[in-house]
Amino acid sequence: MSGLYGGIETGGTTCVCALATETGEVVARCEVPTTDPDSTLDRVVAFFCEHKRPVAIGIGSFGPIDLDPASSTWGHVTTTPKLQWRNASVAPRIRDELGVPVSFDHDVAAAAYGEYTWGAGRGLESVAYLTVGTGIGVGLVIAGSVWYGALQPEVGHIRIPRVAGDTYPGSCPSHGDCWEGLACGPALAARYGIDPARLPDEHPAWELEAEYLAAGILAIALVVSPHRLIVGGGIGRREHLLERVRQRVRELFNGYLPSPLFGQEIDSYLVAPQLGADAGVLGAVALARDSRLRGQAPSLP
Ligand code: ZN
Repeated sequence: MSGLYGGIETGGTTCVCALATETGEVVARCEVPTTDPDSTLDRVVAFFCEHKRPVAIGIGSFGPIDLDPASSTWGHVTTTPKLQWRNASVAPRIRDELGVPVSFDHDVAAAAYGEYTWGAGRGLESVAYLTVGTGIGVGLVIAGSVWYGALQPEVGHIRIPRVAGDTYPGSCPSHGDCWEGLACGPALAARYGIDPARLPDEHPAWELEAEYLAAGILAIALVVSPHRLIVGGGIGRREHLLERVRQRVRELFNGYLPSPLFGQEIDSYLVAPQLGADAGVLGAVALARDSRLRGQAPSLP
C-alpha cells in the first residue's frame, strides 16, 4: 500500500473531490458547489483535511488554464468568463495548503486519462474523450500521455458544415457557428428556447444534434485515428443520441477504409464513458499517481 491519492474536478457548477487508492478504488468522495474561488477551495481543502492526507493530488479544471510549469501563473485559471475565477490560483493553493505535490490539467484531459486508465479505454494505445455539455471539448491520450502539441488541441472550435435550414447563428463568442457554437448545450437551448434536458427523445432537435456531432466525431477519427472514441458530457451521455450519432458516423464514413471500426464494430468503437460522471475526478487521481511515479509532479515550495 503506497498511500492514497486525491482527485479534484472543478466544474462550472460543482467541484468533485475523491480520495482513492492507487488502483482507483474510491474511499471518500464529496461534491461542493462551485461558487467563488475562496469559498470553494476552502471546502475542498477541508475535505482532504478530514481524511488521511493523500501522497499527491491531481486536479482537472475548467479552463482556460495555465499549464506551463515554468510560468509564474502555473495552476491558475486564466481568462475564463466566470469573472470571480479569472486569474484564480487553484493548483498552487491546494499544493501549499495541503503540502502535497499537485498535478494540474484540463477537466477533459483528466476525463480522457481516467477512461484510458480505468474505463472504456483501458488497455488501448490511444483514446479520444469528447464531452458535449456547456461546451465541446476533446481530451486525447496517446501512448499513455495526454497530448497537448504546441498549445493544446481545441477540437470544439473546428468548422463543420452547417445543416441546410438551420438558421441559428451559433453561440461561440469567438467564432459563432464553429462546432461548439452549433452543437453545445447552450446552442440547443438558444435554438429551441428550452433547456435541452427537457427536450423529449423524439424532438427533431436530436436529429440535427446527431448530424453535427457525427461531423465533428468523424473529423476526430480521421485526423487522430484513436483506438476508441468516448462520448461524455451532459448532452453526449443521452443514450438515444449516441445511437443516432453512430449511425450517422457510419454513413458519413461510407466504407472509405475496410476497417470494421466504422461498420459492424462501431458500437464498441464509439462508446459512452464507463466511469460515467466520475471520469474526470478519477482521471485526476490517475494523473496524480502517474505523475508521481514518473517523477513529474511539481516539487513542493
Ligand atoms: Zn468557437
